Amino acid sequence: MKTEKQPNRILNGVGVGTRRVSGRLKFFFRGELSQPHKTNISHDGAQEWSRLQTALRKTAEKIKALYERALSSVGEDAAQIFEIHGMLLEDEDFLDALREETERGSCAEDAVEGATQRFSEMLSGLGDDYLSARAADMRDVARQLQQSLSGNESNEHDREKTPFILVADDLSPSETVMLEKSLILGFVTFRGTPNSHTAILARAMGIPALVSVGAIDPLYDGSPALLDAAEGTLTLSPTEEQTSVFADKQKKDDRIAEEHDRYLRSLMNKPAVTRGGHRMLIYANIGNVEEVDAALSNGADGIGLLRSEFLYLGTDDYPTEETLFRAYSDIAVRMQGKRTVIRTLDIGADKRIPYFGLPEEENPALGFRAIRICLAREDLFKTQLRAILRATAHGRLSIMLPMIVSVDEVRQSKRILEECMQELRRENKRFDPKPEFGIMIETPASVIMCEELASEVDFFSVGTNDLMQYTLAADRQNPALARLCEENTEPILRMIATAADAIHRFGGWIGICGELAAELHLTQRFADMQIDELSVSVPYLLGVRGKVTECR
Ligand code: PEP
Ligand code: MG
Repeated sequence: MKTEKQPNRILNGVGVGTRRVSGRLKFFFRGELSQPHKTNISHDGAQEWSRLQTALRKTAEKIKALYERALSSVGEDAAQIFEIHGMLLEDEDFLDALREETERGSCAEDAVEGATQRFSEMLSGLGDDYLSARAADMRDVARQLQQSLSGNESNEHDREKTPFILVADDLSPSETVMLEKSLILGFVTFRGTPNSHTAILARAMGIPALVSVGAIDPLYDGSPALLDAAEGTLTLSPTEEQTSVFADKQKKDDRIAEEHDRYLRSLMNKPAVTRGGHRMLIYANIGNVEEVDAALSNGADGIGLLRSEFLYLGTDDYPTEETLFRAYSDIAVRMQGKRTVIRTLDIGADKRIPYFGLPEEENPALGFRAIRICLAREDLFKTQLRAILRATAHGRLSIMLPMIVSVDEVRQSKRILEECMQELRRENKRFDPKPEFGIMIETPASVIMCEELASEVDFFSVGTNDLMQYTLAADRQNPALARLCEENTEPILRMIATAADAIHRFGGWIGICGELAAELHLTQRFADMQIDELSVSVPYLLGVRGKVTECR
């Protein structure tokens, strides 16, 4: 941590949420290797090898602690990655390579660099997806080894005891899964947009975030800061006056929030009905089993979007049918008869998983993702569908397909679902033979084809995040386009109205599960379109319920 005071500065970004928090900044650096600092100086091999041995012991302890923490916070499957890290650290070939490097006169740091490079190139070159993914793990292990060598462990979250404001250039969903959430006061990312998955996660966790602030000098690592999501600012090394004004604002916010919360809680278990008599179901978007309780205690009428891909992230191999079945049935039981919509795997684009071995793409958002992967890899799709079907015996689950562009994709999926049902019948496994079946409307093609699609399914759920990016041709990850998106919701609203008319004509229902569902200035428009359900992150449930009751 830096002790000298850094200059006071105010940065602007896009706020996620409306809260204000103050705390110490903590920079999150990726597991990249530093540039080798090769010199021509020859080092004492025995001395460098002894330094390495001490660092190897320290790193092994650290990895063990990470394993324990992951085990209690994200479960056994996800924690396995640290077991693998431990094994890589003890690999005989790797240790031999390290020793050889020191014998040749390299310092310990360069030995790690050289051995890791050789080792990971060898793993990547074997043409095996699983082993290529291990090359990335090897680099992560090497980064930890370098930190043990340098004695600079300030970026290790496991050492942290006091909550902090996390600063990163951007975070991938799998990195976010691994963070110790109770320690994070807020997120600040250099890049990202309010629709990126990091922002979605921040919303789901109810913690304020500021995205798209631009690069911050790492010298601020450890410095105090004020994060104001309401005003979209980050004050670095604040003055006493700034801190005291900020504290006053926080107190005022707390008073208003308490009052508002009391009012909203009084509505919690009442149906959300507009003054004109239109009932809207207020559902929650969740990404894991743990969020179910929070959804219910905030009055959720159901789960409108279970982002099931999060069960595939944060682990290093495909989850088995049993693992998926246990998670889905656990949710179904906890929901006590309320509906849960499970969206089938939506992987690809910004959600990358090394063990899927997906090809690198020029335009991943327009590439091989979601239903396209599932239809090309039926075994993968069937594992998930069989798990969902089996879990329907334990509660009210609906199946929803992401990224649909054609009727053919829906029919193919139904055929595969039917095959799963036949298999389960032969195996005498229990399931609901007529599970509710729907699709996401998140491509312009699905809106144009909504009549035909409506005749095939029970419901639509509009994914406004993707529908917006594909309609406005505006990458949802690109901060430079955030304003363009904010200013152009009208085409999206008209598309939603078109889809609503179609599905209602066929007797189905329609929900909205993208981030626009929580935009209170649009609730009246959604009520006018007779939208049946709004699905939002847990912290927004009560606010949206309150807003519906104020609509005409
Ligand atoms: C959407 O696209 O609006 C959506 C809900 O799906 P995701 O954000 O997971 O892509
Ligand atoms: Mg989407």
